[in-house]
Amino acid sequence: EVAVLRLGHRPGRDNRMTTHVGLTARALGADRVVLASDARTSLETISDITDRFGGPFSVELADDPKRIIREFPGVVVHLTMYGLPVQNVEDEIRAAHADGPVLVVVGAEKVSFDVYEAADYNVGVTNQPHSEVAGLAVFLDRLFDGRELDREWTDADRRVVPMATGKKVVPVDPEE
Ligand code: SAM
Repeated sequence: EVAVLRLGHRPGRDNRMTTHVGLTARALGADRVVLASDARTSLETISDITDRFGGPFSVELADDPKRIIREFPGVVVHLTMYGLPVQNVEDEIRAAHADGPVLVVVGAEKVSFDVYEAADYNVGVTNQPHSEVAGLAVFLDRLFDGRELDREWTDADRRVVPMATGKKVVPVDPEE
């Protein structure tokens, strides 16, 4: 299992970013995302996309996100510009994933230092400041070695037919 935990959420200001963390987690192969308890609007958008475009993927809210880190029964990877370069630790993390679940933690605003201490790995996707959405996307692609790009979806009610030019979306036969 791969779970993503988004720490922090400033209602209003962070709505799009929090939603995009969830949509990126879903699209790039994670099994679930956990959001801060005041991110209900983002939870609804992510659930709605999952209903239309398929899963399996789940989204939850957490009152105490740090407890999720403490009690996670696997490897905790905190994405931060201050961490070890992803290219140096990805093999080790992939090996750990072969044996058990991985929790990927991303922040919104400043992340408190206890998260750095609680994580098994603090990982930088470059050591430059950018975005939790970008960091998550690159990290998941490294973790899955690109295989997430070929993922199949179940229980979708629509599907995009890839085209060189144009936009084609077709209903999915429930028997499929
Ligand atoms: N300045 C904040 C701090 O010191 O914790 C970080 C805020 S940043 C806008 C939001 C999140 O994006 C971070 O918590 C981290 O998860 C992610 N992020 C930003 N740059 C990153 C990088 N180079 N590598 C990995 N994650 C990064």
